Amino acid sequence: MDVQISNLKKYYNDKLVLDIDNLKIKKGIITGIVGPNGAGKSTLLNIIAGMDSDFEGTILYDGKSINKKIYKEMTIVFQKISLFRRSVYENIEYPLKIRGVSKWERRLKVENILKILDIFDLKDKKAHLLSGGESQKVSLGRALVFNPKLLLLDEPTSNIDVNSTIVMEREIVNHNKINNATVVIITHDFKQAKRLCDEIVWIERGKVGKVDGFF
Ligand code: ADP
Ligand code: ADP
Repeated sequence: MDVQISNLKKYYNDKLVLDIDNLKIKKGIITGIVGPNGAGKSTLLNIIAGMDSDFEGTILYDGKSINKKIYKEMTIVFQKISLFRRSVYENIEYPLKIRGVSKWERRLKVENILKILDIFDLKDKKAHLLSGGESQKVSLGRALVFNPKLLLLDEPTSNIDVNSTIVMEREIVNHNKINNATVVIITHDFKQAKRLCDEIVWIERGKVGKVDGFF
């Protein structure tokens, strides 16, 4: 799905932290959001994810305001991991459960995700016992498992070793290509942005800036 952001203003305690007249996130490509610390990137992604409705302006998904159906077709992977204190398997299974997917189909999908992310060995481990990198892979797995049309990623590979980053980037690109999914990724890593992204949005002090010559 595409996302059209218009006349967006977001305040925290009277301080204007986002001020975006017009920004279109195009369907079926990977868009990178880059910019300095405190620029408003996470705030923007949370708003797109429907996690924060305290803003002025409009956000349209394929031309429509957010509703239950749209909400179920998208997901966000937070920078700060938010897994349940249950097994890795249960964590990845959860989005399928709440979408009413049958038990045998859940098992097929969860096991497939565990394999492609190279974390099958971790399936019975409790999520709170995982390393930081393992948790980030599980979080990505929990997002990918239900084939979201809109995948929002907030620094998904920060503090991750090279091999895990390669695996995660591969699966993010595969999800985009195979499902024609729209992906938005916040990253501090310019090289990663160049590797993954079809378009870059530069955010600075709450505004969209120019990125001429980035590629
Ligand atoms: P980025 O992701 O680009 O580093 P953020 O979106 O996290 O930036 O933050 C944008 C601005 O909003 C910063 O000035 C930050 O201090 C402020 N901010 C973020 N979250 C809150 C909050 N919950 N309460 C008050 N201010 C916040
Ligand atoms: P507690 O440690 O208090 O038992 P958990 O950390 O297990 O709580 O879970 C936190 C929240 O997430 C609770 O609201 C719980 O109902 C929910 N939750 C945890 N695991 C699952 C799961 N596998 N399926 C559905 N909801 C879950």
